[in-house]
Amino acid sequence: MGSYRIAVLPGDGIGNEVTRGAIEILKTIETRFGHQFAFEFGLIGGAAIDQKGTPLPDETLAICRESDAVLLGAVGGPKWDRNPAHLRPEKGLLQIRKEMNLFANLRPVKFYDSLTDSSPLKKEVIQGVDLLIVRELTGGLYFGKPSGRIVENGEEKAVDTLLYKKEEIQRIVKTAFELARKRKKKVTSVDKANVLESSRMWREITEEIAQDFPDVTLEHMLVDNAAMQLIRSPQQFDVIVTENMFGDILSDEASMLTGSLGMLPSASLSASGPSLYEPVHGSAPDIAGQNKANPIAAILSAAMMLRLSFGLAKEADAVEKAVQQVLAAGLRTADIAQKGHRAVSTEEMVNEIKAVILDNEAISHIMTVYA
Ligand code: NAD
Repeated sequence: MGSYRIAVLPGDGIGNEVTRGAIEILKTIETRFGHQFAFEFGLIGGAAIDQKGTPLPDETLAICRESDAVLLGAVGGPKWDRNPAHLRPEKGLLQIRKEMNLFANLRPVKFYDSLTDSSPLKKEVIQGVDLLIVRELTGGLYFGKPSGRIVENGEEKAVDTLLYKKEEIQRIVKTAFELARKRKKKVTSVDKANVLESSRMWREITEEIAQDFPDVTLEHMLVDNAAMQLIRSPQQFDVIVTENMFGDILSDEASMLTGSLGMLPSASLSASGPSLYEPVHGSAPDIAGQNKANPIAAILSAAMMLRLSFGLAKEADAVEKAVQQVLAAGLRTADIAQKGHRAVSTEEMVNEIKAVILDNEAISHIMTVYA
């Protein structure tokens, strides 16, 4: 029996609804397995700007640093879209990544047989897809200096810098190999080594790290080819590791393989403290406050927290299996419902997943109601 402190940052829009759902599921895990989770809440994003005048208040950071893991909802919304750069909700996200040293963003993309029709791709292309994108999150083009606007000899210019230190590449690539070792034992390292010096260094370091993992196969792929292969034959991938901006773009592309943003969890691992877990989707202002949001991405993020931060594999399995079972039984929120099928609310989805976690027999009742 363990006891764990979880910092919860609901953020804005549906961030509130989906984190509430994930907390319900964590409380169910407490009940079934006898652990203790203490939840402490903090402000981030637009909600923090409104109440504290900054997208990431110091007290929020303090709560996160004292926790064992952080659960985040989503930030942003039209209300803050015209704010200056330092008062944008998304600034809170970039800041928390840097402050908490969240260097590795993990995004699993998994095919669910029951959701074949939600994907824009053909069933034979996506069947069996089970890949993990490992994106470097605190270096590269989004953080390198110089960055900004300059005027030189009367000419206006803009510059961003793609900079990586050797150790930043080493730690992300090593993480990818360690994760691949527990999966299908293949790493695809994505770069642009035919053009960029930073990519050539990335490739050299990846080759060096690979020496320590003789049981894992390494392949290199240029980023433009990787973008194409993800659509052409996504089954070929196991773990994809790449730098910050390539990862940003490829992970959004990969997220569409399974059809709905509402299904995709993520983890951001820290090099020095608690890690952070959040759904891939944003605050969805178009459906916020309507009890319509799909809570599964947030719930699966909580499952990743159980597995990766707390080492509770059995408990994570119980959550993931319950999600799979309710989907197989026909339960759908609006974003994944087929035409003509009744969509359930956020709360109904959460309640049925809870019921299945607590009692395996619950699924037969759910099947008769929703099939
Ligand atoms: P979004 O992910 O919020 O929504 C895109 C579409 O997907 C919308 O139609 C929305 O209704 C739907 N959707 C998203 N999550 C869903 C869920 N769980 N269940 C059902 N439907 C869901 O992206 P957007 O509309 O481009 O951005 C809205 C706001 O969110 C913006 O302010 C943006 O900056 C912010 N954003 C935040 C994050 C984050 O917090 N990590 C990520 C992306 C966007």
